[in-house]
Amino acid sequence: MPAITGARAYLVDLEVETVRTDAVQSFIKQETVFVEVDTNDGLTGIGYAYTIGTGGRAVLSMLRDHLVPRLAGQDAAHIEGIWTDLFASTRATTVGAITSLALAAVDTALWDLKAKRAASPLWEVAGGFRQDVPLYDTEGGWLHLTTDELVAGAVASHDAGWGGLKLKVGKPSHREDLERLAAVRAAVGDRMDIMVDANQSMTSAEAIRRAKAFEAVDLFWLEEPLPADDVTGHVRLARATSIPIAVGESMYSIAQFREYLERGAASIVQVDVARVGGITPWLKVAHLAEAFNVAVCPHFLMELHVSLAAAVPNGRYVEHIPQLRAITRSEMVIRDGRAFAPETPGLGIDWDLDAIEDRRVG
Ligand code: MG
Repeated sequence: MPAITGARAYLVDLEVETVRTDAVQSFIKQETVFVEVDTNDGLTGIGYAYTIGTGGRAVLSMLRDHLVPRLAGQDAAHIEGIWTDLFASTRATTVGAITSLALAAVDTALWDLKAKRAASPLWEVAGGFRQDVPLYDTEGGWLHLTTDELVAGAVASHDAGWGGLKLKVGKPSHREDLERLAAVRAAVGDRMDIMVDANQSMTSAEAIRRAKAFEAVDLFWLEEPLPADDVTGHVRLARATSIPIAVGESMYSIAQFREYLERGAASIVQVDVARVGGITPWLKVAHLAEAFNVAVCPHFLMELHVSLAAAVPNGRYVEHIPQLRAITRSEMVIRDGRAFAPETPGLGIDWDLDAIEDRRVG
């Protein structure tokens, strides 16, 4: 058995690679929480989770004070057993973002070990559907950008052969949102998928009104129109519009996805491997969505999600937001509008350990 002989957690702050704003927030910095797990067969697994600027130290404390000390001596191959033990040990703070992020940092390290021990890439170990997944761009669609800047970004994505692009919405006037979307649609033609993201900023009535207006632009999805805990509002909106509703980046447990799917409130599932608690629950959500004939288009973390979206038959799109370039030695492979899952054993992220060491803050 690959017994765990040591484990440690630490925090690395990364500056944002570009200014990113939406209707409710901006991406301040990427607090990247790492967990390394050593086993007695000489392997080390590296896992991670993230925040977009707040709470990273709370995740680190949860790991150092409570979760990491429970790992010593456990069999690293028993991932479900370890996950369940850690979850049970934190019962008073679950379901919750801080605990889920901490669980994810451990769980992804264990999957890195599992795939390294199998000498196989994650996309195969996690399911192995196909190696490449269509890519859509978010990096050209932030809310502070002018219409001309949005159009320029969209044309660049179109010319690169990418299948889709995402624009943030939630300007004070719905007319302004619509003008921006229409300008981009006119620039890229009718073959490119356009997604929009409201980041939970709307009321139920406003979401229905804007969705109706947006239908003229032919959208691929409307993302997080309402607060994530307003499931009934999403049900109502889904019935009122022909635009598919995408949710998932603000959900922290399998059961939250089950409720959305059961009630017909989600047409696209954007489960985030860090926020849902790791690869173990991520795969369960993806398979649950498959049972409802719903596609998975994971939120952010493209360097890890490319392998997970490639692992499952309902992985539909990977989101392009590069944010690890300062601490990795190579980038995700993109060819003909598709992202390719790495072939190297483990998670396949080419960490620059010296650069990580330089940026440690805790
Ligand atoms: Mg979003």
